[in-house]
Amino acid sequence: MPDLACKLLVIGAGPGGYACAIRAGQLGVDTIIVEAARDGGTCLNIGCIPSKALVHAGDEFARLRMYAATGAMGLSAGAPSVDFTKTNAWIGGVVDRLSRGVTGLLKKAGVRSLRGEARFRDGKTVVVRGSDGEQRIRAENVVIATGSEPVPLPSVPFGGSVISSTEALSLTVVPQRMAVIGGGYIGLEIGTAYAKLGSTVTVVEAAERILPQWDAALTEPVVRRLSALGVSVLTSTKAMDWSGSHLTVASAEGQASEIAADKVLVAVGRRPRTDSAGLADLRLSMSGPFIKIDDRCRTSMRGVYAVGDVTGEPMLAHRAIAQGEMVAGIIAGQPHAWDKVAIPAICFTDPEIVSVGLLPDEAKRQRIDVKVAEFPFKANGRALTTERDDGFVRVVARADNGALLGAQAVGEGVSELSAAFTLALEMGARLDDIAATIHAHPTRSEAFQEACLRALGLPLHI
Ligand code: FAD
Ligand code: NAD
Repeated sequence: MPDLACKLLVIGAGPGGYACAIRAGQLGVDTIIVEAARDGGTCLNIGCIPSKALVHAGDEFARLRMYAATGAMGLSAGAPSVDFTKTNAWIGGVVDRLSRGVTGLLKKAGVRSLRGEARFRDGKTVVVRGSDGEQRIRAENVVIATGSEPVPLPSVPFGGSVISSTEALSLTVVPQRMAVIGGGYIGLEIGTAYAKLGSTVTVVEAAERILPQWDAALTEPVVRRLSALGVSVLTSTKAMDWSGSHLTVASAEGQASEIAADKVLVAVGRRPRTDSAGLADLRLSMSGPFIKIDDRCRTSMRGVYAVGDVTGEPMLAHRAIAQGEMVAGIIAGQPHAWDKVAIPAICFTDPEIVSVGLLPDEAKRQRIDVKVAEFPFKANGRALTTERDDGFVRVVARADNGALLGAQAVGEGVSELSAAFTLALEMGARLDDIAATIHAHPTRSEAFQEACLRALGLPLHI
């Protein structure tokens, strides 16, 4: 095949890569994107989207079971059941639609898409091995967006019944008993979904608490709900061995016990995919396991950029998208640099957790004098009308001038508050700006306004 040439070559069509390529194409940059698997990357195909679809299926089934059992609000239902083949077909349909959408957007932006495994020859030349053979591409600029993959656990290696999130999102039956190693994002989202669909779930977490990156107040409603759902959570506990039917775990005190399981989901983190694409030969500067980048996502090699999970924490799709879009602008000649105030983080547990900016403890560690106030959903009309009044909204603001430094919430549906929290931080809002903004009634977002009013010493509905 004759060599190809382009101004921009993007390796990997996950959120970081496809966002970069689409924006570059729109800006008139001659762009090629190479993807080894399916457009949309981890997020669309084996991550964010199928996991949230599974979470939704679990939520709906749990709701049906609850009404069948309690007749709450005067509603009743027959004995509900799951046809997991149909559930999977529905999840697959959502994934297909979005993946095809990305393919279409790339095409519409005039981006040339190649299917195959890309490998660097040098910083400007990449060879793509696809089903039709090898294709050499010369590029003025290359963006590495190769993403991340699950971290294996040496004591309980992947294989057979020991699975990663990828396999957990493509099971053909709901396992009767599932052991989940890691009480983080993946373990809790997928573990809770399967518990709601009927599995007996045990979560094994090495740290003292689940979701240890957040404070206990924020995670407590999730702990309570897990218990109500019958999920066993073993904290300060490590997985030691898998016999094929039993997982041996050991407590911090060294006490061993066994958990019977049909599937073991190992979710102890993800690592950047830096062994891909012949990256090692480029000898880029690294920051720990990640490719080192500057505030323009430039690597240590001229003309080579990196975006997304391969560049570090937080390994989140929206960070990858923002980086990809920024790099496209830079290559098109725009004067961009990374200046985001905050990257929202959401765990789609039950209830959901959202955190943007500083937690109270982080502010304290930075020796910033802060005001912290919470508004409980127990005092929020919308929460009461939807029968989920657990959780709260919390604001963290500078004590001297009320500038918002952080906002967190735990409660049903609070993921949607992430936009208001992040916008307030990006706009440099102060407590009185938010308190003086009309928040529609009855909505959960009123709890944000009320938390600010409380921090100002002007509570209205509490
Ligand atoms: P990826 O999405 O990993 O894409 C990289 C792409 O590069 C892949 O398609 C891969 O095939 C391709 N590739 C790699 N090497 C080569 C090569 N040599 N040649 C060609 N192609 C190559 N994040 C959120 O923000 N919200 C969520 O709710 C969320 N849920 C998640 C749930 C799960 C179960 C998982 C696993 C992850 C979740 N994430 C979530 C994280 C999110 O998926 C990642 O942060 C995001 O996908 C990173 O995007 P990326 O573009 O850096 O890489
Ligand atoms: P994680 O870092 O969220 O959680 C891993 C958990 O495993 C931690 O709580 C850790 O203490 C625990 N752990 C580590 N070693 C252990 C061991 N030997 N035994 C028991 N517990 C152990 O990682 P994850 O859940 O695998 O998710 C990976 C990444 O994917 C996340 O960090 C996030 O970036 C992304 N993700 C995001 C979302 C979202 O945004 N909603 C959802 C899923 C995944």
